[in-house]
Amino acid sequence: MSIVAPKERKHLSADALFHLVRNGFANIPDSRGEDVDISLTDALMSAFAMFSLKAPSLLAFDKERAEGNLHTIYGIARVPCDTYMREILDPVSPKGLRPVFKSVFRQLQRGKALEPMAFLDGHYLLALDGTEYFSSTTIHCASCLQKVHRNGSVTYFHQMLGAAIIHPDRREVIPLMPEPIVRHDGTDKNDCERNAAKRFVSKLRQDHPHLQFIVTEDSLSSNAPHIETLQHHGLHYILGVKEGDHAFLFQQVQAAEHAGRVAYYERHDRAAGVSHRFRFVNDVPLNASHVDIRVNFIEYWEIGATKVQHFSWVTDLRVNKRNVFHLMRGGRARWKIENETFNTLKNQGYNFEHNYGHGEQHLSVMFAMLMMLAFLIDQTQQLCCALFRAVWTKLGSKRLLWERMRALFYDYALKSMRQLLETLLYGWQKLQPLLAVDSS
Ligand SMILES: [Zn+2]
Repeated sequence: MSIVAPKERKHLSADALFHLVRNGFANIPDSRGEDVDISLTDALMSAFAMFSLKAPSLLAFDKERAEGNLHTIYGIARVPCDTYMREILDPVSPKGLRPVFKSVFRQLQRGKALEPMAFLDGHYLLALDGTEYFSSTTIHCASCLQKVHRNGSVTYFHQMLGAAIIHPDRREVIPLMPEPIVRHDGTDKNDCERNAAKRFVSKLRQDHPHLQFIVTEDSLSSNAPHIETLQHHGLHYILGVKEGDHAFLFQQVQAAEHAGRVAYYERHDRAAGVSHRFRFVNDVPLNASHVDIRVNFIEYWEIGATKVQHFSWVTDLRVNKRNVFHLMRGGRARWKIENETFNTLKNQGYNFEHNYGHGEQHLSVMFAMLMMLAFLIDQTQQLCCALFRAVWTKLGSKRLLWERMRALFYDYALKSMRQLLETLLYGWQKLQPLLAVDSS
């Protein structure tokens, strides 16, 4: 009996996207000039391959370079050794990666892969959140943020503002290019998440002027200047609020309740054994000093047999009994930026917090961005590639999937990622050992 390989959307296959990424890298100018033995494109693609293969360290990647497959699958002509890769990439500004993220996103749009991610009337839910991925008292670079302690010692660290399109019903997330939170040239002031968010949304609008978004963030972002920034860029929002941090708002809600302006809604889910209880009010001021910023407020309790969970949000979307449940699901989906994005990068084989090399200028930031790019390609596979999903289901876990992929990659000569995935799904009898074709 012959087995038919699951169909895939050709332009969204790993092989097509690796090609696209490589072409994008080729547009990044190499400040070293023309006379170089290993091109910047090869160095970038090698670092990308390291994250795509989930190599546990740069040294491990260097030791098992398997150049034949790096050439056929990732299109790399020459792979730099570990120290040389760091040397080539350190001076390169990560800004050059923006068009690469954008071109992958365009492919997703063209392939209609984003459609199932639409949340409300063609709007996408975009979760933003800051995360720290490096901290040290000794290793540091020109981009490091610094915290000077009372005893004079310094902690150096790196953060980024992550962004991903999420959907309450989907496990996959579509990360956009993160905004690094770094010290900028010629200043000794730390950057902060709020400034990074400002830069992020203005670049988001440059890259995607017509896409409609509902931004969702935690309660730290529910402040007037940030809401003004979102409004200025035509972005809707569902932002967390807390009674402790937004006392004025909660007092206004209380006053509205006394005045009979607050609406209530309740829904029972018998199968899950939970009740969903809401109170909401439209058009209340966010805080005393910015009474011109009016928001719509939702408070929500999920009441189970043994525990009660409580959340509250503000949104610019008008709330009514028909949409309040859906808006709540959007607000709660925010955790996917932490759980399905940052925690996946930290714990599912990507080694987000591992130091692949710090450099003196941009290397640490560049590696973090390339890892996010590799994650974007993987999420695209998970969203669009039936073959990838079949292999994942067969092996049962991402960790095992990455392990098997690496083992095959290092030991056998392969023509494509598709061949590698098919081999994992159907068996490997026909493959040749890598040494049989390795010309080194
Ligand atoms: Zn640094």
